[in-house]
Parts: sequence; structure tokens; C-alpha cells
Amino acid sequence: MASKQQSCIVCQCPDSTVRFDGILQCTRCSHVYADLERYVSTDLELLYQEEYFSGAEYSDYVADRPVLQQNFRRRLRVLLRFVDRAEDKSLLEIGCAHGFFLDVAGPFFARVEGIDISAGAVTYARERVGVRAVCGNFLSHDYQGGLFDVICLWDTLEHLPEPHRFLAKAFRCLNDGGIIALTTGDIGSAVAKLRGRKWRLIHPPTHLHYFSRMSMRRVLRNQGFVPVYRSSCGFSRSADNAAHGVLALRLGRPELYQWLRKHGLLGWSFNLNLFDIMYVIARKRSLSEGRDQVSGLGK
Ligand SMILES: [Zn+2]
Repeated sequence: MASKQQSCIVCQCPDSTVRFDGILQCTRCSHVYADLERYVSTDLELLYQEEYFSGAEYSDYVADRPVLQQNFRRRLRVLLRFVDRAEDKSLLEIGCAHGFFLDVAGPFFARVEGIDISAGAVTYARERVGVRAVCGNFLSHDYQGGLFDVICLWDTLEHLPEPHRFLAKAFRCLNDGGIIALTTGDIGSAVAKLRGRKWRLIHPPTHLHYFSRMSMRRVLRNQGFVPVYRSSCGFSRSADNAAHGVLALRLGRPELYQWLRKHGLLGWSFNLNLFDIMYVIARKRSLSEGRDQVSGLGK
């Protein structure tokens, strides 16, 4: 079955086939994306209100702060390897939510700030975490000529209807030699292939784009970036959030989740690397670099 509703954001091909119910695949480059005609009728801001962080997707994002910050510290350690003299540099996080990454990164940079469309999360970031953050859409926000040295999108690109436009604007908002650092699911991974439609990261309307290593490299190059690092990125997760995801959301057994929680059985966390989340760092290509030099990483 073919669809001609929208063009591929990686190669602009207008044709797609149905990969799973509600999920399309580009016939030319194989990029996988949600059927936006079906899913983007809802207002994105409405998806990311308090409910998203306390029940709809996360069990309790704020209570998970220590575990989330463990993840962010690990990502930051890798990122700092690619930033010379970070203490003189500025960092912007797109999709900063409650500011937990900005809090961790702040001491290492001259200036860190964030942007997020969730008003409640941004208020929390400013008032409770004490970091600089604005509520708004990165695409329409006016940075008034201010440029950054590092732009981060942690688990954010997959949420965006037009991620390529975010990358294009990120390019314009970066100083020469600036870098972009991001994490997102890898639909080419063994786990994603094995699980098919049941892969835990396939859940429109909050996840709309499903990159593979190949489509990620291509979309970055299209927007003027040279990939310089890629790995599979593990994560720490609280038992509470994992149990909420499996019992309450997947299996429809919220009472079992509540019972475990009430009896104090979910107060621990664990590390996991399923090799299905990619961590990519890419450098802004300078004007003097020709396309031939943009070899990126291997396949
Ligand atoms: Zn395509």
C-alpha cells in the first residue's frame, strides 16, 4: 500500500509504504516516520503538559531526577571530549524539560540555557532548579543574533514533526566549529527489528521520526553537519518508571504498579544498554570544507 501524504524529511521523496499501522517508510531511502496526517492534528503543546511527565509517559519525571541526572552526567562526559575550553563556551539545550541536564552541565560551561514547549516544565526549571530556560518553540524563537558553541537535543528529535528544520536552525545558531549532540532511538538496531511495531520507542503521536544510523548521517549532512562520534548509549532507569511503563501503560495493570509502589518495592534503579539508542555528535561544517570531505562515519 502506498501513501503520498507527505515528503520524506531525509530525501524529499513523496512516496512511502506502510511499515506498521500509522507508521510509514520512505520508498527511496527507507526513513521511517509516523503518518503525520493522522497524528499531528493534535496540538503538540497539549501533549507535553504536566500529565506527560506524571503518568502519560513518565511515572514521575521529577522524582526520577537522580537517575535522569546519572544519564545526563554520562552523556556530558562524552560531550566534553569534543569541546575545547568548555569554560569559555555557551550551550543551548532544545527540549530541556525540567532543566535537569542544564543543572548538571552548568558548572562546566560559561553559559547554559534551554528551551522547551512545556510551560510547566520550564517554570520548574527556572524556579526550582535555578537554570536559564524559556518556554517556546525553537523554530520560531528569536535568539537575537546570539550564537552558541554547543546545541544538545537529548531524546528530542524523534518528537518533532520537522526535525530537519530544527537541525537547519541549529546550524544557523552555532558558531563556527560548533557542535550538535543528540540521542534518539535506532530503528536499525537488532532490538527494534526483533520487536517490530512493539518496539518500546514506537509510540506516536509523541514519537514521530524513527532514525537509523544511515538516515541520521544523511539528515545531518543535508543540514551541514559532519558526524564525528556515534555510539550506542545505555541508560539508568528507575524501577518505578520501568514498572509504570510495562505494567500501567503496556499491560493495562495500573493497580499492580500502584501495589508495588505502595509497598516500597520500586525504590531502586538499574543500568541497561539495549544498543537501540544512538548517541551522535556532529560538527558544523565550515565554509572552507567541501562536500567531499564530509565522509562522516562508516556505514
Ligand atoms: Zn527518504
